[in-house]
Amino acid sequence: MYVENQSFDIAIIGSGILGASITYFLAANSKSKVVLVEQESAPASHTSSRNTGKVHAPFLYDPLKKKHFAKAAFLGFDMLKTYCSIKSLPFKQDGVLEVATYEKGIDRLHKYMNWGFSNGLSENELQFLDKDQVSKMEPNVKSLGAIYCSRDASVDYGAISRHLVEDLQRFGGAMLLNKRVRKVNAAGGKITLQTASGHTINSNFVINAAGGNAVDIAHSLGVGNDYTDLHFRGEYWRAPAEYNGLTKISVYSVPKYPEYPFLDPHWIVRADGRREIGPNAVLVFSPYAYTLSTNLKYAIPKIFESLPTGVSKMLFDKQFISLVFREVKSSLSKTAMIERAREFLPQLEPRLFSQRGTAGIRASLIDKNGKFVPDTLMIRSDSQLHILNYNSPGATGALPTGAMIASQLIEGGIAKAKMDADHTTPWNLPKIAEQMLI
Ligand SMILES: Cc1cc2nc3c(=O)[nH]c(=O)nc-3n(C[C@H](O)[C@H](O)[C@H](O)COP(=O)(O)OP(=O)(O)OC[C@H]3O[C@@H](n4cnc5c(N)ncnc54)[C@H](O)[C@@H]3O)c2cc1C
Repeated sequence: MYVENQSFDIAIIGSGILGASITYFLAANSKSKVVLVEQESAPASHTSSRNTGKVHAPFLYDPLKKKHFAKAAFLGFDMLKTYCSIKSLPFKQDGVLEVATYEKGIDRLHKYMNWGFSNGLSENELQFLDKDQVSKMEPNVKSLGAIYCSRDASVDYGAISRHLVEDLQRFGGAMLLNKRVRKVNAAGGKITLQTASGHTINSNFVINAAGGNAVDIAHSLGVGNDYTDLHFRGEYWRAPAEYNGLTKISVYSVPKYPEYPFLDPHWIVRADGRREIGPNAVLVFSPYAYTLSTNLKYAIPKIFESLPTGVSKMLFDKQFISLVFREVKSSLSKTAMIERAREFLPQLEPRLFSQRGTAGIRASLIDKNGKFVPDTLMIRSDSQLHILNYNSPGATGALPTGAMIASQLIEGGIAKAKMDADHTTPWNLPKIAEQMLI
């Protein structure tokens, strides 16, 4: 498919679930020549294959501050269900309990109920349970009350992304692996991507869906300079088999500091039945700092990069600094991590946990005032679209987000519409875009 220095209409950087979804819809619905460019030897090698695997119902998301994520999570449920059914991939609608372990958490649960209804969930899908009702449903869970949401599911996002990449190639899109985009030039309305291996890819439009590298790529083009990013590694511990019967479903606890990206670790029942505890959110210096040596390698450059930005203001935020240390402690000490889940599952014994799960890293966007940006941020010009802060529930919302972006590019004449497109995927693109933008 790929010929050296070939020209494309649209180049998409990053084959995580977001880049794969956008390219899937563009390849299916447009006649434009599209190419998905990935630095690794396999698609979706990073966050999209290293997460909790939940299809999140949108009750945790403020409909005003997290409007995009809330809409996309709502629409993502049905789209993922359909796609997984077509591809015979697991989609286990197992539901979730969000439990309050402290008095103020109950107020927060009521707020979540309101957000959930505003974001489209029905009364059948979202129920408030008092302490006794929780015990009846999950006898081992200790709480003051909870929300039970039946519209939550467990999937394998890595497998979904790989299927999207197979499909987009079937629809005529190109996939380039082992091509790390080192430099992007935008001159005279033409885009040139230069890869670390010395290749040049030309296109009329570029979409930056590079996950943890998206901010750096945007900055290299002079875009998004008011923002920077911090990387947080979410770690897991696998539960031993004797805990398989501890609960039937996943249990999350109301976060104590919801304005920071530090959710307390959950009790997770995965699509394949494995039980895990996690993730925490440990500050690291690179989107790929899975090991200590990689983390140390990027420490000094990242510190110097961050000091002139909004991050310097965060150093005066005592709450943030104390949370950073708490997360580091839960990374170094298995007991500290498991203690956090013992607040609602007191039976858990740290000594029985012996295997770590697969960690994933998120890039959180920070504004110039040192505040976390709550929603995803899309910055568009005539020849570029940069998608920043594409965090949780990003995997849940990737299909509707991809459909919306493809529809807008077709509508705006950047991509050329294909007349027989409706037969290729199960969805009507303009309709999804319309629902996303209501
Ligand atoms: C611990 C954790 C748990 C989570 N749990 C959930 C969950 O349960 N449910 C949910 O909905 N969401 C969850 N999320 C969020 C979700 O995983 C992400 O929002 C989503 O995977 C982001 O997808 P992406 O395609 O933007 O990024 P990525 O998957 O990171 O993909 C970006 C791709 O770009 C490539 N790339 C980067 N730079 C370059 C370059 N220069 N040249 C070429 N290629 C490049 C990378 O190699 C990578 O493949 C979780 C996230 C974390 C960290």
